[in-house]
Amino acid sequence: MNEAKTCKTCQLPEWYVTYYGDVKLDKEDDCFFCKHYEHTKDAYEIDYTSGKAEFEKLVEQSRGKGEYECIVLYTGGKDSSYTLYLMSQVYGLKTLALTWDNGFFNDINTGNIEVTARNLGVEHRYIRTDWDVLKHIYKNRLKSYGRFCNCVPLCFLYTAPVIYETKAPLVLFSSSFGQIASLAEINARIDTSTGKAVAPIGDIIKNMGAVPIKNAAMEQYYTMLLDLVVGDLPPKVLEEMKYLLGYVHKLMSVEDSLYVNPSVYFDWDMKQIINKIKEYGWKQPEDKGIYGHTSCIAERMKGYLAYKQNLINFDIIENSLLLRTGRIDIEEFNREIECTGFTDVEPEVHNLFLEKLDMTREELNDIIKNKLAIRSSIPEINTKNLECLPVDTNIDDLVEKLKRTYKTRLTI
Ligand SMILES: [Zn+2]
Repeated sequence: MNEAKTCKTCQLPEWYVTYYGDVKLDKEDDCFFCKHYEHTKDAYEIDYTSGKAEFEKLVEQSRGKGEYECIVLYTGGKDSSYTLYLMSQVYGLKTLALTWDNGFFNDINTGNIEVTARNLGVEHRYIRTDWDVLKHIYKNRLKSYGRFCNCVPLCFLYTAPVIYETKAPLVLFSSSFGQIASLAEINARIDTSTGKAVAPIGDIIKNMGAVPIKNAAMEQYYTMLLDLVVGDLPPKVLEEMKYLLGYVHKLMSVEDSLYVNPSVYFDWDMKQIINKIKEYGWKQPEDKGIYGHTSCIAERMKGYLAYKQNLINFDIIENSLLLRTGRIDIEEFNREIECTGFTDVEPEVHNLFLEKLDMTREELNDIIKNKLAIRSSIPEINTKNLECLPVDTNIDDLVEKLKRTYKTRLTI
């Protein structure tokens, strides 16, 4: 990160970050995240003894309910593999592992998915995905927002029909401590001059552990709409999105089902997690950091595109948080950042990425040049798209909701 001045503690550059806008350093060369941390250190220490008990209460409430007592959204990465272990082996719930392939899975990950689920003895289903549809979604997101990754809402969208039909009482998605705490730092609405926030980070994190599935569906619905109501999408794509969004919409009125992130409740120690899942045949890809996304070949492309557009993306916020809170040291930080691709150097996967997306180098360079990732507002709504999608609010309301979602949610 040698192009911009960086925070002396957490290395964040003076670039754009979701919700806050441009990061500015104070006289001591500290960023507002660090200033906030200095004031509220204790709030970052989470009490996991009560957390575990709370999680076990959720497990017991779900036992005996439904065809599956829980669904694990399973990418084959370390967090979701560990969650699969937790639910099937530690708690013995009747578990369905559900995999949505984002089209960028690497070979090691495909192997991990099969082997780990089999060794855990868990029923496993793949969601069918048409690359010819998905590629247009990624491309449209790139041309509209200067980024392509949107795996959390996309995974929710594609798995929504199964979640709805099976009515599982628990749906588990998994992220690391760093991911959840970074999201909390964005939700904390930190005052950038004083470092004060709306609530202590620990409380915000706790509230992120289990949310009604209907609330999660609403959030993912608007995040997905950000991609779908702008730009030009072929009729085939809109048709499939209409079908899938219809299920997300139905989930918005489902009671008695929770969307749960287990890493809020447990001391999610990455090294211990990796050791545990290795017992079930999970393999660590060699070119990946331990905090990064082990499943995805496009990870470095994501970091590269962010760097070129002066965007601090979610992976960087996460690693800066780990450094600031002393969970990793500067050497580990540098290694992790390198693995995220957050550099000026084109990653090896660059040409394959363009080929897969059916894009030219010029098209991508134009996006980078215009810094679409840090645009101040959403692009114009395409009413042709809107007419094909299940949207029942009026356009003014919708635009307001989308503007808010864009400002607060677009972190990757
Ligand atoms: Zn800092």
